[in-house]
Amino acid sequence: MTDPAPFPESPVVPAALEGDAPLQFHCRPGIACWNACCSNIDIALTPVDIVRLKQRLDLPSWQFLKDYTVPYEMEKDGIAGVKLRPVEGGTACRFMRPEGCSVYEDRPTACRYYPVALLSMRKQGEAFDRQSYAVVREDHCLGHREPRRQTIDAYRAEQGVVAYDEAGHGWRQLILKKKSSGPTIGKPSRRSLELFFMTCYDVDRFRSFVASDAFSGMFELPPEELHAALVDDVTLLQFGYRFLRQVLFGEMTIPLREAAVEQRRERVAEQRARVEREAAERLAREDDDGGGYVDV
Ligand code: SF4
Ligand code: SF4
Repeated sequence: MTDPAPFPESPVVPAALEGDAPLQFHCRPGIACWNACCSNIDIALTPVDIVRLKQRLDLPSWQFLKDYTVPYEMEKDGIAGVKLRPVEGGTACRFMRPEGCSVYEDRPTACRYYPVALLSMRKQGEAFDRQSYAVVREDHCLGHREPRRQTIDAYRAEQGVVAYDEAGHGWRQLILKKKSSGPTIGKPSRRSLELFFMTCYDVDRFRSFVASDAFSGMFELPPEELHAALVDDVTLLQFGYRFLRQVLFGEMTIPLREAAVEQRRERVAEQRARVEREAAERLAREDDDGGGYVDV
């Protein structure tokens, strides 16, 4: 029996599964489809994936981004994501070797999860996200015909995704919050989008920013907290998510210096005045045009 698919071409089996659902799957060297999955890639990277890969390749984050990734839009006019760039003029992963993945210990979350997909959802107005899983069945992947069975949770543990999921949770929450907040947050400014990109993906550039006088002139972070963030990429990412929640959504958890508080007050007052001015001008224009009323 073939599994019903949500769309005719989609390999995703349409079911939101819990972690204790059974999974029959085994990928092993010697299987006839060896490397088929890595020959045609479409792999979105999480911030932790980038940290692990740039550390492995001993590259600063900006160099890794330039050489190994392509940006993409997660939603129209919204925040950006980053995908692994395939080989020049082809579709295969640059880390694929005849014997398998050359960065296996640091392979991205999506590669670890395959053929399971993580589904994170948040309903509008909810403060937490729900996690479930789907199974991807692609014709070329023969791992589904192998006899090995275990739960999805056991598979996640075996593939080492649990730590990756924990480290990426703050990032997924930011994305879900942005997507579910809709018009209350509105279209982010270009500056906010750049800040999101730097903080989540270009961690070494973000480190330079956090270490700068401009940052310490604005934020009052305890020295030990600042030090912990500056010496460890994953700790810095976690701090970055907190920083973005403050900048993008006004969740004030990083104390501002007095002068910065004053500046922020002035900026908010200016923004409010600008919005009111634009609304008044719009109304005046509508009045000039007849205001949309029909004389009877
Ligand atoms: S990173 Fe490794 S596992 Fe992932 S697509 Fe590339 S070669 Fe395959
Ligand atoms: S079994 Fe699936 S995941 Fe493993 S090598 Fe084959 S196509 Fe790739």
